[in-house]
Amino acid sequence: MDAHTEEAENGRPSRDLCDLCGFALAGQSGVLALVADSSAVDDHTPTRDGQRLVVACSPEHLAVLEEVYQRRTFNEEELWAAQIARALRYRAGRITPEELSERTGLTFGQVVRAITWRNDIARAEGPSEAEEGQPSPDIEA
Ligand SMILES: [Zn+2]
Repeated sequence: MDAHTEEAENGRPSRDLCDLCGFALAGQSGVLALVADSSAVDDHTPTRDGQRLVVACSPEHLAVLEEVYQRRTFNEEELWAAQIARALRYRAGRITPEELSERTGLTFGQVVRAITWRNDIARAEGPSEAEEGQPSPDIEA
């Protein structure tokens, strides 16, 4: 796996395309900004959870991207759910809320709120879309 593929799979932006217009940067350097995004978690640097690195072809497109993320609601439950999904990604079988709390660094109350939020989203989206993206945790009561 090369570095580019690895970055794409981690949900970080490709350095090759503008995140707004998709313009191929093709070796030119794009402009970058770190924006607040409660859906973003970093597999390698958990201290960057809740931040997304965006790349644009121009300062104008970067300004639009920054505005998009500024308008997006930063939802703590969404961030915690993403952190839970990351903790569960390579773990098979059941897990207790206490283990989950230990693995994510979240409090028990935060784990419960995140799961409730995730379940509400899954119900609103319907069964087919709920299967995509983040795995639903199999948590012992
Ligand atoms: Zn662009």
